[in-house]
This record gives sequence, structure tokens and C-alpha cells, in this order.
Amino acid sequence: MRVLNYINGSFCQAESGEEIPNKSPSTGLEYGSLPRSDHRDVDRAVEAAKAAQDGWRKLTHSARAKHLQTLANGIEARLQDFAQTESIDNGKPVHLARSLDIPRSISNFRFFAGAAEHFAGESHCDTKQVHVTKRDPLGVVACISPWNLPLYLLTWKIAPALAAGNTVVAKPSEITPATAFLLSQVMDDIGFPKGVLNILHGFGAEVGSPLVNHPDVKAVTFTGGTQTGKQIAVETAASLKKLSLELGGKNPFIVCADADLDKASDMAVKAAFSNQGQICLCGSRIILETSISESFKRLFVAKVKAITVGDPANDRSQLGALVSESQLQKVANYVDKAKQSGGDILTGGEPIHLPAPLENGWYYAPTVIAGLPHDHCVNQDEIFGPVVTLTEAAGEAELIRLANDTVYGLSASIWTNDIGKSMRMSDRIECGMIWVNNWMVRDLRTPFGGQKMSGIGREGGWEAMRFMTQAKNISISYEEADHD
Ligand code: NAD
Repeated sequence: MRVLNYINGSFCQAESGEEIPNKSPSTGLEYGSLPRSDHRDVDRAVEAAKAAQDGWRKLTHSARAKHLQTLANGIEARLQDFAQTESIDNGKPVHLARSLDIPRSISNFRFFAGAAEHFAGESHCDTKQVHVTKRDPLGVVACISPWNLPLYLLTWKIAPALAAGNTVVAKPSEITPATAFLLSQVMDDIGFPKGVLNILHGFGAEVGSPLVNHPDVKAVTFTGGTQTGKQIAVETAASLKKLSLELGGKNPFIVCADADLDKASDMAVKAAFSNQGQICLCGSRIILETSISESFKRLFVAKVKAITVGDPANDRSQLGALVSESQLQKVANYVDKAKQSGGDILTGGEPIHLPAPLENGWYYAPTVIAGLPHDHCVNQDEIFGPVVTLTEAAGEAELIRLANDTVYGLSASIWTNDIGKSMRMSDRIECGMIWVNNWMVRDLRTPFGGQKMSGIGREGGWEAMRFMTQAKNISISYEEADHD
């Protein structure tokens, strides 16, 4: 697949004329390329988005909503194609892309089409005075996304930006460009208005950085690593751009003594290993109340040992390949550090070698580690792979202390049947999203985002529509009638 940029309604190569090879994680082999864009392509895309701004913002809300619905329908019509492409490009099982990534991308457009119809300003009336608060679009918005949920997260940004009347320059991850390219094909097929959504491919330093720094880009919505997020915050500080940063996580999965251990261990497997452990919300630190620690461990490890790692194209594979060779190496390095520190590898702890033609693919066994101090880097750093740790805590206060003992604050999962305990713990755990007796249940109306080093701002529902607009207050004075 030869991926191209999409600027002002046309497919084009990068100005540099250079291409970046694209490898498939399942085989480790090159299967396509993407344009190596730079600041010249950014200038062209921002110019196109700026020129399209007036026409797009002046459309009625219903007309904008209709365009988003058409985009959703276009993806839905090619669901299988999108799912296979996402799986080849990212290494995730095709059934996951078919049941989660692509349907959610469709929902993102449908949901924000609804938001475009219903989002409203406010008015406040007083004696001889009416205050009308409009929510105006910002202008050109940069949408930058990572590789773990490629189309899902890209559309989660694009959809509210467009719904609110902005035009967009989007930059998917250079590691997983393929479904963004299919999205531009859909736009082309349906005749989506030119310049309203432009998609650029290439490296972060060469495309992302000039994009966030472009003076005509009025806001940046970014999902990715904490280090990159900090860099963007520093680079854009002087221009006071609006910034939404969704960053890393090291999320606690807390099992209290009174929890249903069978259900908790079932969900802990999903929370730790879905998408090969490459979800920002993954429960990568399982914290167990001491009295149930041994029983939970037995149940959990047996379930992890039963996971099938295999060809992502095979519907029976529960886990596929890690996204890149460097990601595989990163995971292996952390597991080595755990081994060197005397960590107890309860299962996994090594790469998996599948038979030809997958022998060079990037597979790693789901790994459970116990016995490390909580300040060990394996318990503190975001590994973003199929590695989970088990730690014990003596009671409620200690569970909370360990849950908060990280620089991150994205999400937490708490397992208890004691409602008082769940509320006390929820009050004191420092993060943006908490699931009680569940994990990763998403309602698109609810705020999504983190505290501490997990980010700034919230996405989802009205939070996203508020981020994507700016308030303008108009106060109108009038004289009261003197005839009665
Ligand atoms: P990354 O920060 O390396 O890259 C993310 C995107 O930013 C890519 O498109 C990249 O090209 C671009 N980029 C890189 N440098 C840039 C720069 N200087 N300026 C502008 N853009 C730049 O992250 P990644 O490795 O692709 O993704 C993994 C990370 O994403 C993990 O830390 C994970 O937790 C995080 N993540 C967070 C959420 C969330 O919602 N909080 C969701 C998914 C992933």
C-alpha cells in the first residue's frame, strides 16, 4: 500500500519526494510506504484548511452533521477492508479491529454529527439586558494521534473539531498510517468538501512539530506519549494556543478482599492484555488486598496461560503482534530488568516465535510479574505492552496509597461489592476515569482524560465541543417600555 497525503481534496506525495517504508508487525516485512512530509506540506495543508474555513463554518449545523454522517456511512460500507488494513498495519487481531476500532471510528463521526445538531450557546437575561454567549469555531485545528488505536483515536479528534465548525489538518502516527489513508479515499469518493479535512503523513519532528507551531493553527489536540506532550506544551506556550493533551498511563487495577474474584480475574486479563497491552487505559498494575492475593494470583495466571497469541488475521488469535520492533525490544528490556531485580515471572517473560511466514513478526508472550518493590521502574514506567505486575496491599488505605504512587493519573479499576468502599476509594484516587467492577466501559458523552502526567483537558461529549469552540459573549441593552 502506497499511502499518500490528502490536501485540499487531492492525493499527493510529499514535497520532499521521499517515502518512509511501512512494515507489517505480523511478518516484520515491508509492505508499503508513506510520504515523508515536512514543513512545506504543512504550509500547503494549513493554507487549504484556512481557505476552507469560511465555507465550512457558515454551513448550518444540520448540513455539517450530514457531512459527518456521510463520512461514517462511507467507512461502514468498507468495514471489512478497514478492519483488515488496521490489523495488517498495527498487528492487532483483525476481529478486534472489526469489533472495536472501526465500529468506534464510525460511532465517533455519528456521535459528533449528533453533537453538531444539539450543541448550543447560552443566554442570560436581566433587567434591560440580555447576554448571549455564542460558541464560535476556533479556525484550523491540528489533530495528532498515536499508533495504538489508529483510526479510533484520529477520528475521536477530527469528528468534534469538524462538528464545531473548524477545519482540520490531521497527522496520524507514522507507524500506522494506513486507515487514515483509507479515510481520505472515502472522503474523495463521497466528495467531502475540499480543504475541510487534510491528512498529512510523516515523522513527528518533521510534520507534527511544524504543524503545532504553525501560526494559523489555533488549537492542538494531541494523543501520545507524555514526553511528546510536554514538548508540544513548551513549543506552543509562546503562542498561547488552545491545547488538549491525552498522554500516558500506568493504571491501577485494584482487587479488594470482598470482590468477586472470578469476574475480577476475567476482566484483569482483558485490562492487562487487550490490544497486546497497548491501550493507554490498560490496567498494568494489579494491586491485591493481601488476604485474597494468593487465590486471585492462581485464577489470574491460569487464565493468562490460556491466552492464544497468533496470526492477527486468524479469528482464533486473542493477541497479535506488537506494533514495532522497537516496542518489542522495549518490552523485553523491562522484563530483563524485572528478572535482574529478582522479580518473579509467573508466566511469559519471552518473545514468541511463530512459524513461517510469521517467523520475523514481533510477538511477545503475555507476562505476569510479582515480587517487585512498587518503586521499581517496571511498576512505575509506562511499558505499553503485554506486561502486568502484581502487588499486595494490607487494606483500604494502602490500596489507595499504591494506586496513587505514580506520576500518571489516567484511569483506575476498582473491584469491590462494598459501595461505601468504592466511593471512598474513588474520591481519593488521583485519576480522570474510574470503573467500579468493570473496565473500559465507554459512553461517548462522558469526559475522557487524565490528571497529573496523563494530560491536560478532557475529550468526549460537551467537553470536546467546548474545547473545539471559543465563547463570545454579546451583551445587549434595551430600554423598558414606558407605555404600561
Ligand atoms: P508519540 O508521542 O511518540 O507519538 C504520537 C504522535 O505524535 C505521532 O503521530 C507522532 O508522529 C507525533 N509526534 C511525535 N513528536 C512530535 C512533535 N515533536 N510534535 C508534534 N507531534 C509529534 O506516542 P506513540 O508512541 O505514538 O503512542 C503511545 C503513547 O500514546 C503512550 O504513551 C500512550 O499512553 C499514549 N496514549 C494515550 C492515550 C490517552 O488517551 N491518554 C490514548 C492512546 C495512547
